Amino acid sequence: MERPRTVKIEVLEKNETNLRIIVKEADVPLMNALRRIALSEVPSMAIDEVVMIENSSILQDEIVAHRLGLTPLRTDLESYNLPEDCECQSEFGCPQCRVTLTLDAESKEGTRTIYSGELVSENPDIAPVSDKIPLIKLAKGQKLKLEAYARLGKGKNHAKWQPVAVCAYKYFPKIDVLREKCEDCQKCVDICPKKVLAIKDEKVDVRDLLACNLCMDCVDACPTEPKGIKVEWEKNAFIMNIESTGVLPPEKILQEATKTLDKQLKEFEEQLKV
Ligand SMILES: [Zn+2]
Repeated sequence: MERPRTVKIEVLEKNETNLRIIVKEADVPLMNALRRIALSEVPSMAIDEVVMIENSSILQDEIVAHRLGLTPLRTDLESYNLPEDCECQSEFGCPQCRVTLTLDAESKEGTRTIYSGELVSENPDIAPVSDKIPLIKLAKGQKLKLEAYARLGKGKNHAKWQPVAVCAYKYFPKIDVLREKCEDCQKCVDICPKKVLAIKDEKVDVRDLLACNLCMDCVDACPTEPKGIKVEWEKNAFIMNIESTGVLPPEKILQEATKTLDKQLKEFEEQLKV
């Protein structure tokens, strides 16, 4: 009998916005489900409605609203509800499902760039991830005054709610230099776009295995027949890379994705019983 598998995770790199992990004992359907859920189902905050009070800039209201919508906002999933799940069921939202941000900018002298840092949020925890996102340029005398409402939403409805800039995985590479066949001609070392191979003590050596993207250029470049280098991939191991837009920490995005997958499977099970 096959022993039950348990997924093993090893962290390669982790910082505020990036997470790179090795996932072992997983398979493609699981990895792909998590990737797709991270992209389209994990909620994040984004501006969804703008009330323009004054706009004498050269950009139309719609363009300004669009730029505001695409400004990533730090998200707090515990304190806010998705509007469709909120008790208020109101079109306008309530303090549990909506955050108000205001902007009151004008240029008194010369041309001035208005940055995301000038948006004032009623909740300091829900604010642009960076102060340095240019929103608009105002010429002397132009004004922009508005009130914007941010809500939780999902990437499947609009890309502005997508919490990740990158969410991808690749197979875990396996490279063998076949000593008895390899002539150490260096052709494979020179052709590798990711600089995976190197010459060590006059022999071809694997320098950076994880950088390999299985392009097979090294195998094609090998002049010996049969080939002196073998590139394969592990069937049940993957390297996953998640880059957050800054709205949520990348590990939180992955945790939320697993929760969502769990919830969807439970719902499926319930429906089956019916
Ligand atoms: Zn509400």
